[in-house]
Amino acid sequence: MRRPLIAGNWKMHKTPEETEAFIADFLARAQPEGEAGMLLIPPFTSLDRAGRLLEGSGVDLGAQDLHPEPKGAFTGAISGAMLAATGCRYVLVGHSERRHVFGDDDATVGRKLRAALTVGLSPILCVGETLDDRRSELTNAVVASQLAGALDGVERSEMASVTVAYEPVWAIGTGETATPEQAQEAIASIRLWLCDRFDAEVAEATRILYGGSVKPDTAEELLGQPDVDGALVGGASLDPEAFASIVAAAPGAA
Ligand code: PEP
Repeated sequence: MRRPLIAGNWKMHKTPEETEAFIADFLARAQPEGEAGMLLIPPFTSLDRAGRLLEGSGVDLGAQDLHPEPKGAFTGAISGAMLAATGCRYVLVGHSERRHVFGDDDATVGRKLRAALTVGLSPILCVGETLDDRRSELTNAVVASQLAGALDGVERSEMASVTVAYEPVWAIGTGETATPEQAQEAIASIRLWLCDRFDAEVAEATRILYGGSVKPDTAEELLGQPDVDGALVGGASLDPEAFASIVAAAPGAA
């Protein structure tokens, strides 16, 4: 049984003070005993404060990126061990903004994913096609090649720590959400790919989220699809009320 996860990726938003205000408001609204897991992914500078405030709350903490190397002369970079030390349990790898703005290719995404696993962080591997890919009917091929690149060398047993997020690039930050059918179809095909690459048990057990302009009014239908195990939320996760209502829309939420 896959437990739904609702994750909020704040991108480059919120100072530590704003983070503290958000968490106070959100925790007053959220139901930690509900069925859905909750995860906040603030910028690096808010991780320490968020980690302290979320302790014992039932809301997990994650980071937006990590460097593939454990330490060294990499000015401006943050290692997986540093993230784990601030209380992070999860880390995003391969987010489309990292791929398209910062140039992370599949090999880099794979190195980051393995670096996360090495220090006990659970990577959330983001994959998704551009609008051109979709129009050329290349969605499944593009997603399959991103999965193959990032999961190269990953053992079957390690998949228990990996979450996948299907995030069509054309839906991220655009207000244009995939239809529930499009999300279901793409995520079902990711599950088939996992079955081929690993086996049916891994395919059944792996949590696969949808991301791309999820809002309170679109969440319920998207989260009601049989293969959609939660949401990776950008813009709407910046508002505690909106984010709490997306959490409440998850199947089985209290
Ligand atoms: C994201 O950042 O992963 C995302 C899905 O953003 P938004 O919800 O704003 O489209």
